[in-house]
Amino acid sequence: MTSTLITNIAELVTNDPEADDLLGAIPDAALVVEGSRVAWVGRAVDAPDADERLDVGGRAVLPGFVDSHSHLVFAGDRAQEFAARMAGESYAAGGIRTTVAATRAATDEQLTAHVARLVQEMRRQGTTTVEIKSGYGLTTRDEARSLAVARQFTEETTFLGAHVVPADTDPAAYVALVTGPMLEAAAPHAKWIDVFCERGAFDDDQARVILAAGRAHGLLPRLHANQLGPGPGVRLAAELGLTAVDHCTYLDDADVAALRDSGTIATLLPGVEFSTRQPYPDARALLDAGVRVAIASDCNPGSSFSSSLPLCVALAVREMRMTPAEAVHAATAMGARALGRDDIGALTPGKRADLMVLDAPSHVHLAYRPGVPLVRSVWLGGRAAV
Ligand SMILES: [Zn+2]
Repeated sequence: MTSTLITNIAELVTNDPEADDLLGAIPDAALVVEGSRVAWVGRAVDAPDADERLDVGGRAVLPGFVDSHSHLVFAGDRAQEFAARMAGESYAAGGIRTTVAATRAATDEQLTAHVARLVQEMRRQGTTTVEIKSGYGLTTRDEARSLAVARQFTEETTFLGAHVVPADTDPAAYVALVTGPMLEAAAPHAKWIDVFCERGAFDDDQARVILAAGRAHGLLPRLHANQLGPGPGVRLAAELGLTAVDHCTYLDDADVAALRDSGTIATLLPGVEFSTRQPYPDARALLDAGVRVAIASDCNPGSSFSSSLPLCVALAVREMRMTPAEAVHAATAMGARALGRDDIGALTPGKRADLMVLDAPSHVHLAYRPGVPLVRSVWLGGRAAV
């Protein structure tokens, strides 16, 4: 097994939970990769020998971003809807149906090529693991093939048949389909099951039924909740002990207490608020209350067509009052936890060597220099990928 010493690292973010600081940052550091894993981290002066040596010239090295929430399987775009929204129209869940029509009309090859392009776009911006949801097919055939496409790119696939009730469909009949034949066809390609629990989509009783059916098929439940207004979704997620609940824009004190007590991760998606001009979630209040917070892109054609976690980090700092360290931790270590993963999101011995080299001396520059392409190179499983 070949070993590589990466050295002359101005700041190495390890996310070591044993460290005194949140990021477990080591100045003037080095890291040894052996095969696909991290074998050693520490001060460069203490580094062991390795077969190969890479000098990164005083740059920062971070764990790759773990984007725990995206909707990459779709066709078409909704640029006109975005332009109309920026001209004053409001965002509603029903816009999803526009993408559904385009997605159903696309071939598997077209969908695959489109996902490949977006995954590559993510990689160039430092994302090394991405979760991908279905949810623009909404028929048994189209949900199953959406997940089969997603599976070619990640093991973190999520069945989101319960994204919206298709046009001209009875809601009760649709829930029966989602929990019956559609789930049967989707489950072999999915790890997770998700429900858009929101006014205009699915209520908490429907979400309960759908998540229970998913669990019975071996899928792990998660939820979209409290994006467009207050609602019961976040409390349901806490009650069910879900790994993560995503959006969390409109929360009251009881919601925050429920998240704190359950340990369910609140995954915040600031690209959505940016792209819909909604108020941002109160990350500061969540963190100060002791809630575990992740951030993700929610990359999708309607409410957040950005694949950029550097943008999300900058927004989290500027608009949600997270510190740069909190935002980077939320997009790496907490993204991994939000996917129930302990092999990624950190650079300590034994973890997968998924990392990025920044064209900057520290993680702070991700927020300090917004909009600048700072990701210089990306390693996936111990190999340079970008
Ligand atoms: Zn979403």
